[in-house]
Amino acid sequence: MSTTTTFAEGSVNVRPALMKAAVVHSFTLPLQVEEIETPIPGRGEVLVRIEASGLCHTDIHAAHGDWPVKPSPPFVPGHEGVGIVVEFGPGVTEVAIGDRVAVPWLGYACGTCDHCISGWETLCLQQRNTGYSVDGGFAEFVKASARFVVRVPEGVDPLDAAPLTCAGVTTYKAVKISGARSSDLVAVFGVGGLGHLAVQYARIAGARVVAVDLQDDKLALARELGAEFTVNASNEDAASAIQELGGADAAIALAVEPKAFRDAYGSLKRGGKLVFVGLPAENRVEIPIFETVLNGITIVGSIVGTRTDLREVFELHAAGLTRVVREERSLDDVNQAIADVETGHVPARIVFTP
Ligand SMILES: [Zn+2]
Ligand SMILES: [Zn+2]
Repeated sequence: MSTTTTFAEGSVNVRPALMKAAVVHSFTLPLQVEEIETPIPGRGEVLVRIEASGLCHTDIHAAHGDWPVKPSPPFVPGHEGVGIVVEFGPGVTEVAIGDRVAVPWLGYACGTCDHCISGWETLCLQQRNTGYSVDGGFAEFVKASARFVVRVPEGVDPLDAAPLTCAGVTTYKAVKISGARSSDLVAVFGVGGLGHLAVQYARIAGARVVAVDLQDDKLALARELGAEFTVNASNEDAASAIQELGGADAAIALAVEPKAFRDAYGSLKRGGKLVFVGLPAENRVEIPIFETVLNGITIVGSIVGTRTDLREVFELHAAGLTRVVREERSLDDVNQAIADVETGHVPARIVFTP
């Protein structure tokens, strides 16, 4: 093992041999909260003591093995981990002991491919994904590439920073990709952990917002956060309701339900843009070719965001421009939290503390 030198590099000597973690052993079993070996940071890596770790729908898909590319159990989910750097391996210059950092989905990218050098590191084929291809933040400690952690500014609560690390950066990027600007009408489909932030970023971009959900309490939250219009798609046809408003310049599909994607498509005005973000387990949606061509519709996928995007997300929050709606729970209750998210009756985001 070449890792024996790591303690000499930088450490506050707080790494216990074992740590608590929530581990996926099988796609068909609940997560197991147990003691596993604390990871040791290697070259270019840091060890982060987790303070807060958000639960994203992706973690649930990972634990169930829902997607075409599956993680390999056993693994630790979690890509909204926020905590303090307590140790680093050789060659780390990006962060120091004591820094508060976020450990996002994009755990590593090569830095030299065409995608990386053109500012699209999120498309890098060599990327590693936290809580999926490498162990994530549902633990007391997480090991991460020092180049891909993002510093959390002074004054930002780690319990807020956690949801911003995926839900925040993902919706912030989606709003950027949508091209939303002042006077545009942006339709946000799904007001959960992602949607409640998407509403705020679209407002910050200057757009007017119509929020769509199946639950009235979520729609009330969207109005509180700046949505001018709301549509309850369980008792109203969302596409025609939004067409009556003149149609959306951009629609952002966040709900993990193909119907929401069809409604989002149907809500667009001519020349409108549909941004795919949510990843339903049912991986299909039917889109008419004729209307897409004649109406000049753009459909684009948007996956998380870069380190720069995440820095901007933290800046906006530090400036008091966004509000994170979340509920704190113990990591010991991870399976109950997953069940609650699956039934949809949780505040916008659950954040675990170890
Ligand atoms: Zn996520
Ligand atoms: Zn690359």
